[in-house]
Amino acid sequence: MNQSIAIVGSGPAGLMAADQLLNLGYKVSLFERRGAIGRKLFIAGSSGLNITNSAAVSEFAEAYSGQSVSFWSSILGAFSPAEWISFIETHLDQETFLGTSGRYFIKSKTALRFVRNWRNRLSKLGCQFFLNHELSKIQMDSFGTHLSPARTIQLHFKDRDPQTFDAVILALGGGAWETEYPIPWPQIFSPFQIQVQEFEPSNVGWEIQLSSDFFKEAEGLPLKNIVFSSNKGSKKGDLVVTSYGLEGTPIYQLGTGQICYIDLKPDLTHAEILNKLSRIKENLSPLRRVKKALNLSKAGEALLFHSLKGKSLSSLEGMVAYIKKVPVELTRPRPLSESISSTGGLPFLNLDDNFMIKNMPGVFATGEMLDWDAPTGGYLIQGSVSLARAAAKGVQCFLSGPLSKSTSH
Ligand SMILES: Cc1cc2nc3c(=O)[nH]c(=O)nc-3n(C[C@H](O)[C@H](O)[C@H](O)COP(=O)(O)OP(=O)(O)OC[C@H]3O[C@@H](n4cnc5c(N)ncnc54)[C@H](O)[C@@H]3O)c2cc1C
Repeated sequence: MNQSIAIVGSGPAGLMAADQLLNLGYKVSLFERRGAIGRKLFIAGSSGLNITNSAAVSEFAEAYSGQSVSFWSSILGAFSPAEWISFIETHLDQETFLGTSGRYFIKSKTALRFVRNWRNRLSKLGCQFFLNHELSKIQMDSFGTHLSPARTIQLHFKDRDPQTFDAVILALGGGAWETEYPIPWPQIFSPFQIQVQEFEPSNVGWEIQLSSDFFKEAEGLPLKNIVFSSNKGSKKGDLVVTSYGLEGTPIYQLGTGQICYIDLKPDLTHAEILNKLSRIKENLSPLRRVKKALNLSKAGEALLFHSLKGKSLSSLEGMVAYIKKVPVELTRPRPLSESISSTGGLPFLNLDDNFMIKNMPGVFATGEMLDWDAPTGGYLIQGSVSLARAAAKGVQCFLSGPLSKSTSH
């Protein structure tokens, strides 16, 4: 096939879109503004690359925001978690395993081989890589309408010669963990009267109001098997004390800027804890009884001790109630540069059913640059690659339609 396609962005979405289109026989050029591909996969892989989740598809689809559950069901149905795992094992030669939390990981400790194997595979399929190419402007040669598409699309890159394509997939990523704020790519859309929603941090740690002594004692330590509650709900899981506050799935999902609560002993009832504390014969203060009888983690003890400072809790009943509901004041979320994902991005209403940008015929958008979000647990990468498959299919429909023609390079 003579038609040539540009993919801009080399995250999982860009790589998957390239893979799909190369397999369909198109000429694919992949552009990346950095000097290497797949940066965020490396970042994500530094603590074990969690590629997807074992949740049932119906439950899976409910994890996503930004579009309806039926939209996500159809996207995930067209490229399912099982197909993604099979792709990784068969084509990227990476073993996967199911962790105890229901998350799937690659066995390799880093994303190094995962990314390298994918790059080699794409090269073998004929992909041309253009690193250090930052897209700065898109020009449509005969700027058309949705019904009468522009015939060629010219991409301009910072300090590089422009290049022309029959179709383009933008997979420029979200706002999380970026180094430049505001994120530069939304400016590309200004000439097309397209508004990009501002990025806000999501799946991010929160700063908490506690004395510096607490952090000296507990920084880096886990609060395992707790229940975290806010006005958004309750979630069991683990948290980690950082230099500024708390990180971990329960707080990523339920953190809000107000008083939240931690149950340090969710597996014991109020009566069971009271019984354990009352059984101690010695004449000890409630706090010393807790130390002796409850086997709290070091971070749990520090949290209890420091949040109780200045409060007098003389009765055992009061102490038990406190352990079941330790108040923690969340002051603010950490910034985008530290978040795992973001809300904001290109709103879906700018796209047609094939993921083509309505005001930019022949230009498609996919992955995390679109305005959706999901919790941690493998949903983000899965969402990105499933959306990429859908956008690649959209390009195929567009290029096989009556109005397409091929550009010469
Ligand atoms: C710390 C951290 C840990 C994470 N852990 C997990 C995890 O375990 N599991 C999970 O599912 N998800 C995880 N994620 C989220 C996951 O990495 C993202 O959902 C995923 O990378 C999004 O894929 P994408 O291809 O849409 O965008 P990205 O991976 O962000 O790729 C976008 C690419 O576009 C390039 N680009 C941007 N603008 C331009 C331009 N103008 N010109 C050319 N190139 C450009 C960028 O440099 C980038 O390489 C994590 C994220 C972070 C930050």
